Amino acid sequence: MLQIYNTLSRQKEYFKPLHEGHVGMYVCGPTVYGDAHLGHARPAITFDLLYRYLLHLGYKVRYVRNITDVGHLEHDADEGEDKIAKKARLEQLEPMEVVQYFTNRYHRDMELLNVLPPSIEPHASGHIIEQIAFVQKIMDKGYAYVSNGSVYMDVEKYAKDYPYGKLSGRNLEDIVTETRELDGQQEKKHSFDFALWKKASPEHIMHWPSPWSEGFPGWHMECSAMGTKYLGEQFDIHGGGMDLMFPHHEAEIAQSCAALGHDSVRYWMHNNMITIAGKKMGKSYNNFITLEQFFEGKHELLEQPFSPMTIRFFILQAHYRSTVDFSNDALVAAEKGLARLTEAYQRLMKLQASATSTVEIGNLRERCQEAMDDDLNSPIVISHLFDSARAINTVFDGKGTISEADLNELREVWKTYAMDILGLQLDGAQEAGAGMDAYKGAVDMLLNMRLEAKRQKDWATSDKIRNELTALGFTIKDTKDGFEWSL
Ligand code: ZN
Repeated sequence: MLQIYNTLSRQKEYFKPLHEGHVGMYVCGPTVYGDAHLGHARPAITFDLLYRYLLHLGYKVRYVRNITDVGHLEHDADEGEDKIAKKARLEQLEPMEVVQYFTNRYHRDMELLNVLPPSIEPHASGHIIEQIAFVQKIMDKGYAYVSNGSVYMDVEKYAKDYPYGKLSGRNLEDIVTETRELDGQQEKKHSFDFALWKKASPEHIMHWPSPWSEGFPGWHMECSAMGTKYLGEQFDIHGGGMDLMFPHHEAEIAQSCAALGHDSVRYWMHNNMITIAGKKMGKSYNNFITLEQFFEGKHELLEQPFSPMTIRFFILQAHYRSTVDFSNDALVAAEKGLARLTEAYQRLMKLQASATSTVEIGNLRERCQEAMDDDLNSPIVISHLFDSARAINTVFDGKGTISEADLNELREVWKTYAMDILGLQLDGAQEAGAGMDAYKGAVDMLLNMRLEAKRQKDWATSDKIRNELTALGFTIKDTKDGFEWSL
């Protein structure tokens, strides 16, 4: 039975969904004003692993991952200019153009990492009405106050009725000393009060009407509003990076308890951080490497490009609650490990069965399941697969035999655990994708040669290229600017 570590109770718990056979799961998604970096890949892959495993266990999963596009900062909703609006202003774009551009790029990165798309991907900007209604509920319960057109959570009052800081293990005194002096402090009763709604300043271009002012919701509000809208007032799992635990998730808990009288989330799950030389990787630390830079090898800290599968494997080689420290050497080691696994998988698919087995395949399936059931212990699953690779290589090298039953079982387990659950594309699907590009490039090259031949009035060559491509099944159309083709 699946056990997961619940950040709230600080222990592993047997997972029992609220509604039998169904799981509701919410994960904080990206803020879309820049490219995704390695730090974004970790929560995406961690919760993809969970999503894939829940599906494997036969659950019907509603997986909601939001897009933060109202442009709040990552660490404090009260601070400074909306970043999307700032980018839009600087580049003379409609804010939604910035949002769409980076959302598309995020999707492309996720697809390359073989991260499954969520069931619902709501945008904060599309749920302003729900957020206003949620703020109103908190107002009605008396846990919020209006100041100068903005609405703030009355944390002191809330903390008298509910434990504030229970997720991150903080108390109000800790929080007072941690809170930085920021914009909007004069309006608040206490520095630790956080914004539920902010009145927009005149230069703020993303704003909406509300009962309190023309403005925009506080960052924490979108997850409370969209989580309960799509998953109900109580749902199973809420995930995100450890850096979101405070203030973001703590604030979400406070908003739910204040508005609904109870917590919405039953299991809180947090992945640990990726560090570079021991420091957190992130936009605010200016040491981040985007996923695209990894794939292309274009960053001063990188000695070579690393494929999306290498990045995925690198992340899955660590347990999600451990830190992962980035270095070229660590990624090169991951690349080698993945190559060994890929080779074993491809050999496994080619093996011939014999009458009996001389290799021991062990109870690989049970051991993999046991590891996944133990709070998604992907590094242990990977080590079991490496063990099994030894048996595969023995048979492949002709130093042992495998029976048909054992061979089928081994193929099944590798497909299930390596491909479906870990999401590693060991069958060359990614190279086939790259092969498509090469093939398209080759056809374009031939047609460009034909174009050049035509310019030189070399009709024989031009006709030969066209006729031979046509014979192969291509349709070629000459256009004003050159050519179009299809197969
Ligand atoms: Zn969130």
